[in-house]
Amino acid sequence: MGRIAYVNGQFVRHGEAVVHIEDRGYQLADAVYEVWALFGGKLADAEGHFARLERSLSELRIPMPMSRQALTIVLREAVRRNRVSEGLLYLQVGRGVAPRGHAFPDQPTAPSVVITVSAVDRTAAEAKAAKGVKVITTPEDRWGRCDIKTVGLLPNALAKQAAKEQGAAEAWFVDELGLVTEGASSNAWIIDGDGVVRTRDTNANILRGVTRHTLLDVLHDEGLKFEERPFTPDEAVAAKEAFITGAGSLVLPVIAVNNRPVGDGKVGPVAMKLRRLYIERAKATAV
Ligand code: PLP
Repeated sequence: MGRIAYVNGQFVRHGEAVVHIEDRGYQLADAVYEVWALFGGKLADAEGHFARLERSLSELRIPMPMSRQALTIVLREAVRRNRVSEGLLYLQVGRGVAPRGHAFPDQPTAPSVVITVSAVDRTAAEAKAAKGVKVITTPEDRWGRCDIKTVGLLPNALAKQAAKEQGAAEAWFVDELGLVTEGASSNAWIIDGDGVVRTRDTNANILRGVTRHTLLDVLHDEGLKFEERPFTPDEAVAAKEAFITGAGSLVLPVIAVNNRPVGDGKVGPVAMKLRRLYIERAKATAV
């Protein structure tokens, strides 16, 4: 069965799905997106992703294309038509179509909506997690509003490509103070020498990861020590463990930064436990 996309009101085969050449998302990256993990065909962390979608749109003064309730129905229908149980759902909402110009169109435009669904091989994902991944670091060169989840991802794409060319799975951006902000498509974490689980605070120029947020709840409920406090790449290498979080990576152990082993260079028990706990919670609360 071929993949089915939702494009501006219609479900169409990927090969037949088209967007307008003057869609502002295409020409100006004037669009935002969300990615939900799917467990058993259900949306993980649904509320958090909806809330961030609404916030991203409102920061850019793009209206919600439909109510949250209606959108949920469309998202579920997209999952159903693709017959995906374990996977990812991608939603993009843009300002719409207008003759090219930087300022917003004078006449309000209908927001563009595209949804795609892809399958994830959970067995392969677990094997990857059990081995751990390497990350590289790269100078922070993104704009100042990384809290808005826009499709303007060129620095992230370049960083990810650099990581790939160096045999790493992720690139961590490092700001002018020498502190890790986040990954190209994930939030960055360490478990420091004192056993404190640390990640960057959201006053910094980072995306407020939904997985990050849920994991903070898990840490709280487990009574684990955590702090929203930045760290340097050297601190990550000196840490006991490191990991990344995101709808795609879930909780993924990091074993090396710039080819320097983190701790003993092996996948850490706490990161793996947090992965299990996160997945359990995500499955139990998926809708
Ligand atoms: N940071 C960036 C730059 C991302 O692109 C992502 C996910 O795509 C994340 C963090 C993790 O966010 P979430 O947990 O909501 O998937």
